[in-house]
Amino acid sequence: MNKNIFTAQCSGYADDALPGLIESYFESESERLKRAKLILIKPNLLSAAAPEKAVTTNPDFIKTVINILKSYTDAELWMGDSPGANFGKYERVLEVTGIQKTADETGVKIVRVESFKPITKDGFTYSSLADEPDIILNLAKLKTHSLTGLTLAVKNLFGLIPGTSKVGYHRDFPVDEELADRLYKFFALLDSKTMNIIDGIVGMEGDGPSKGTPVKLGITAASSDAVGLDITVTRMIGLKDDFCLTTKAALSAGYDPSHIETPKADIPVIKLPMTKKMYLPPFLKALFAKQVYVKPLVLNEPCIKCMLCVNSCPVDAITLVDGYPFVNNKKCIECFCCHEVCESDAVGLERSWLHKLLVSK
Ligand code: SF4
Ligand code: SF4
Repeated sequence: MNKNIFTAQCSGYADDALPGLIESYFESESERLKRAKLILIKPNLLSAAAPEKAVTTNPDFIKTVINILKSYTDAELWMGDSPGANFGKYERVLEVTGIQKTADETGVKIVRVESFKPITKDGFTYSSLADEPDIILNLAKLKTHSLTGLTLAVKNLFGLIPGTSKVGYHRDFPVDEELADRLYKFFALLDSKTMNIIDGIVGMEGDGPSKGTPVKLGITAASSDAVGLDITVTRMIGLKDDFCLTTKAALSAGYDPSHIETPKADIPVIKLPMTKKMYLPPFLKALFAKQVYVKPLVLNEPCIKCMLCVNSCPVDAITLVDGYPFVNNKKCIECFCCHEVCESDAVGLERSWLHKLLVSK
């Protein structure tokens, strides 16, 4: 595997440093790109959010990548993802995120994960779309994540699992580290065909991956070693290698980070998700686990009763009370899918009294 890791700091999406970085990366993989017959571009299209919200990979970033890509390959180019819960309204997601416009302007064919039949391999059920291309060009967004700490290159391939099956992963692996381990193993299945670029020019801090705050970080980075890439970006924002749980899973599986050099970078410290702010030693965790928690809370006023949260809950912890969704805290496994999918900001996060006492906001 080509383990080179390329990083750059960009003042914005029009900064020349961005095409410079992409050129350097593609040059290092020029033979692979030349041989490819079909390349799948896999952005983060989590939900129907405008580009400035930093929920999805920026369309100008994607356009720059595609325009340079075309000078390195004659391969057919496809682009697609499976949004978190809004996979029924894929066209709307493509429109609002600016991805349809980018595809039209660059002549790239839009595909949808759910249009390809699911296949099962090594215990994973995923869209056969993933098996079609010679290269998966993984265009991840740098965001905080309430469950896995961060979402970077490794986590971004979760979108190749069809919409309804994603919910099942949360149900079957309710502990965050177990789910992150599955996500890493799924990535490892496809790793050899990935090339990875992270859009952290405007990233997300706070309660990501969909309800955090956009933050200008100026980071862009690329590598065919996705775990090394994730570690590099994690270090650039001043966090420990294993803060991102998918990286923690890779390290536990034997990934050796000793070759990774941390680039000098002038990056602001980001706000962490409320769920990841506190570290408790295991013995205290066991003692306080039931008292220190963050749970979702539906706010009736902004709720438009779309039922996305109800349909995305993997353990049926949300029922209707007076026509509004209501979370049964006893059943809730704190996966935050409901918080992630609500497009009306009607699912807030409520902290237990001990969480409030121990963790500053
Ligand atoms: S809380 Fe959000 S996702 Fe759930 S029904 Fe209301 S608007 Fe829809
Ligand atoms: S209520 Fe929300 S956080 Fe709790 S299990 Fe259901 S989707 Fe996950």
